Amino acid sequence: MYETLAMYIDGQWCQGSTGEGEDVVNPATEAVLGRLPHASTADLDKALAAAKKGFDLWRRTSAYDRSRIMEKAADLVRARADQIATILTMEQGKVLAEAKVEVASAADICEWYAEEGRRAYGRIIPGRIAGQRQMVVREPVGPVAAFTPWNFPAVTPIRKMAGALAAGCSIIIKASEETPGTCIALVRAFVDAGVPAGVLNLVFGVPDKVSRHLIASPIIRKISFTGSIPVGKHLAKLAAEGMKKATMELGGHSPVIVFDDADAIKVAEVAAAGKFRNAGQVCISPTRFYVQEGAYEKFVGRFTEVAKGLKVGNGLEAGTQMGPLANKRRVDSIMGFVADAKQHGATVAAGGERIGNQGYFYAPTVLTNVSEDSRIMNEEPFGPAAPILPFKSFDEVIQRANRLEFGLAAYAFTKSAATATAVSDALESGMVGVNHLGISLPETPFGGVKESGYGHEGGMEGLDAYLVSKFVTQIGA
Ligand code: NAD
Repeated sequence: MYETLAMYIDGQWCQGSTGEGEDVVNPATEAVLGRLPHASTADLDKALAAAKKGFDLWRRTSAYDRSRIMEKAADLVRARADQIATILTMEQGKVLAEAKVEVASAADICEWYAEEGRRAYGRIIPGRIAGQRQMVVREPVGPVAAFTPWNFPAVTPIRKMAGALAAGCSIIIKASEETPGTCIALVRAFVDAGVPAGVLNLVFGVPDKVSRHLIASPIIRKISFTGSIPVGKHLAKLAAEGMKKATMELGGHSPVIVFDDADAIKVAEVAAAGKFRNAGQVCISPTRFYVQEGAYEKFVGRFTEVAKGLKVGNGLEAGTQMGPLANKRRVDSIMGFVADAKQHGATVAAGGERIGNQGYFYAPTVLTNVSEDSRIMNEEPFGPAAPILPFKSFDEVIQRANRLEFGLAAYAFTKSAATATAVSDALESGMVGVNHLGISLPETPFGGVKESGYGHEGGMEGLDAYLVSKFVTQIGA
């Protein structure tokens, strides 16, 4: 049922040349799923040479032909969705229903970029001299090096692969070593759809070794990374040394502001469903709940009920509503956040502990009486713990929402159109959801401000990330 683990370099599925590698573990059972090969420096050089060759070929392939191949890849992902979703749940832990939604989104993203790649329009600027033509042509930036994390093993890699391919770039992707099977299955779909050798290459290895080598290569012209802020800053510095274009999708700490006039019960249900999706391991997860005093008790009551009622277990078992955390680091981390919050005076209204001693399970947790100084209010929690705090006024809550260096996503709930406009204007955030949490679609720009990064994926901005402008001015012969 699980994927055959391999790298894909220059049109060949391969094992690493040195035999080095690591085990991939199922977070629900701690069983080893397979052995993942690592790329040696020689393997990475091979991938770089392939990406150079692939770029020369792919940039000259018409946007129409590229689009046809990518549409076929999207269809193959759809046709194989059940199989890919099962692999995803086995290696990452999220419940199968969520994995299926993620794989369906991955197919949609691929299809959308396939279409958008045919619209990489330039423009004509009127000349100052009779007969002069001034043109702006959009060209692919060049071979891309991309690095993706373990929390969305389908959506995150396909955003980068499809964005690059749609623009006419070749790509070397290093997907997460902890969730490699899903990306391998996606690469199979592109290969079966007809993506030529060298255009798409998949490697694994020691992350810092791989990224340093690829980013330093003069062949690579664009870096795209999704992951934590510290790693993003490190890779941005490496990219800057070669003056390379970069997209950085980094962490968040999303405030959720619930005003008195919202339906506290309904909002609590929506917010709890959003909070515990993928066990809270989502960069746009709602993480800091600010509820206006009049709605606070009702909101906390319903949110806590929902948290306590969730069935936690192996994501492959029917009826499971929340799976394990993706790795042991996350369990240790969330335990640390909760212990620290308690030390700062927090009350545990639900959860607050590990479940069982096999698999990385942690109970859906609700914290009240939380001090704004506790770590969970200042560092990205990336786990199933929800701190809920009361607030009094609009200005006060905006100050508290904007006080961190994160600026990825923010949410607000209100029945007032005036408050909705005021709050979306005031929040320092790359994305704002008003009265719902659905802020990620293929056709809309996804990205942060402040330390949450720069650049976008999705929307016309997502294609733009892989293009450069060339100005051509021409006077008759
Ligand atoms: P981490 O910060 O070391 O790694 C995050 C991701 O970056 C992993 O996929 C890792 O393989 C990759 N990575 C690490 N060093 C790299 C390097 N030098 N070059 C290229 N890739 C590199 O730690 P972690 O334990 O996996 O995650 C910790 C925190 O990262 C989480 O608490 C969360 O805040 C954040 N995170 C964010 C996202 C996101 O979607 N923005 C995804 C995963 C993790």
